[in-house]
Amino acid sequence: NSEEVAVANGTHVLNLSCYVAGKPIASDNVLQVRSPYDNRIVGTVALAGAKETNEAIEAALKGGKKLNRYERYSVLDKTRHLLMQRKEEMAQLISAESGLAIREARYEMGRANDVLMFAAIECLKDDGQIFSCDISPNGKARKIFTFREPLNVAVAITPFNHPLNQVVHKIAPAIASGTPVILKPSEKTPLTAIRLTEILYEAGLPHYMLSVLLGPTSEVAEQLVKDERIDLVSFTGSVAVGKHIAKTAGYKKVILELGGNDPLIILEDADMNLAVTLAAEGAFRNSGQRCTAVKRILVHENIKAAFTKCLVEKAKEYTCGDPADSETKVGTVIDEPAAIYLEDVTKKAVAAGAKVLLGGKREGALLEPTVIADVPRDAQMVMCESFGPLAPILGFTDIDDAIALSNSTSYGLSAGVVTNNMQHAIRFVKELKVGTVNINEVPGYRIENSPFGGIKDSGLGIKEGVIEAMKCFSFIKTFSMPW
Ligand code: NAD
Repeated sequence: NSEEVAVANGTHVLNLSCYVAGKPIASDNVLQVRSPYDNRIVGTVALAGAKETNEAIEAALKGGKKLNRYERYSVLDKTRHLLMQRKEEMAQLISAESGLAIREARYEMGRANDVLMFAAIECLKDDGQIFSCDISPNGKARKIFTFREPLNVAVAITPFNHPLNQVVHKIAPAIASGTPVILKPSEKTPLTAIRLTEILYEAGLPHYMLSVLLGPTSEVAEQLVKDERIDLVSFTGSVAVGKHIAKTAGYKKVILELGGNDPLIILEDADMNLAVTLAAEGAFRNSGQRCTAVKRILVHENIKAAFTKCLVEKAKEYTCGDPADSETKVGTVIDEPAAIYLEDVTKKAVAAGAKVLLGGKREGALLEPTVIADVPRDAQMVMCESFGPLAPILGFTDIDDAIALSNSTSYGLSAGVVTNNMQHAIRFVKELKVGTVNINEVPGYRIENSPFGGIKDSGLGIKEGVIEAMKCFSFIKTFSMPW
């Protein structure tokens, strides 16, 4: 599609609209989406209001042609192929509206491909269980069987940081489960989400199965969260909004995938090259805007000086600049206020004794990858989530200290540990209060169908990942028969 190419070149503005069950919305209320890099208008979206929100719910509940397993598989598989045919244009759109470097957007296309592939495969599997009932003194000659039924209608609310992948991670499992879904993507990156919706319709998804809405929070997002006809709200985003949803959603299933403050913990015996690579990749990829980005680098005091020197050298490879340039490693963060926040927490840490060893300069939403040493343990930068390319280094004295320091924030998403000592690795796996521990990997390592999600302020411990998400987007029904 040459339209996206023209958009990426800055010669065309993409004018899109929300969709109520396949029907584009006509509205004078239009959102402008600007490039965080040069502030040009990338696209516009005709917005929904309370009326369209209600219509989307009614259309989902009214239903339509029910897809059997093979048909769901076919829609998801076809969507994947259409997406891959348009891989470069879609990557350029992601990059243009989010400011993410084009290399990151291309990587995200590959991830979305995997999500769709795994979800399509799951359509072909039956996960029903069978229980024999004659297995205790209280037993009977019966069997209990389980199968999954779709929900009536679900809501998916997504953040900006992976404009495509966050959306696919909710929509694909919903479709695989046969559940109609109303998508409310981020106002900061809506164009990719709407394009994906159009591709799903093109791939044959019955229109009642998907609506995409953006508009005033009180008329769209909050109305969807509160509506009693909705069976499930699946939300990924900040802790503040997630907790607000938990309070207002009422009697329905709520999935919350919230912020993270993930440590990379580097033990004394760590392979130094590996530790440095993981720290830089974890802190700077996707402009540091991943829920599982490395937001704290915890290093054993005995190797801290050597590690810090190597990380500063490594970080110089992460050139930042024009997101559209294939050579750019780090694009912008999502907008200028986000970059100013990161600059501000860096200044506060420096005032408390930290030292900026590399980077730190800001121009608009572009913030240089920044390595910061001697960060106090109570600095805002490391107690709260810093969603950007910051690499704060803190020392620890022994394993007890590392575990306590790692567990000392309110978050509990993931952690990475760099060590070759099996006993130490096992202690961290058991004692870190997080949803995932990766040994000799970045905290965020996963495949798209493995269980993923956090505890404490990072989530309620209910996992996503294609297989777990499909469990959320369905109800188990049991039936039993004499046997
Ligand atoms: P955000 O919470 O500001 O927004 C997320 C979504 O919620 C957006 O679509 C937004 O429009 C919507 N929203 C805002 N107010 C709402 C309300 N009152 N009711 C319902 N919906 C509302 O988050 P963001 O800034 O877009 O994303 C960044 C955050 O997301 C970070 O904290 C990051 O760690 C987190 N995140 C978590 C995961 C995970 O899987 N745990 C993954 C990616 C991002």
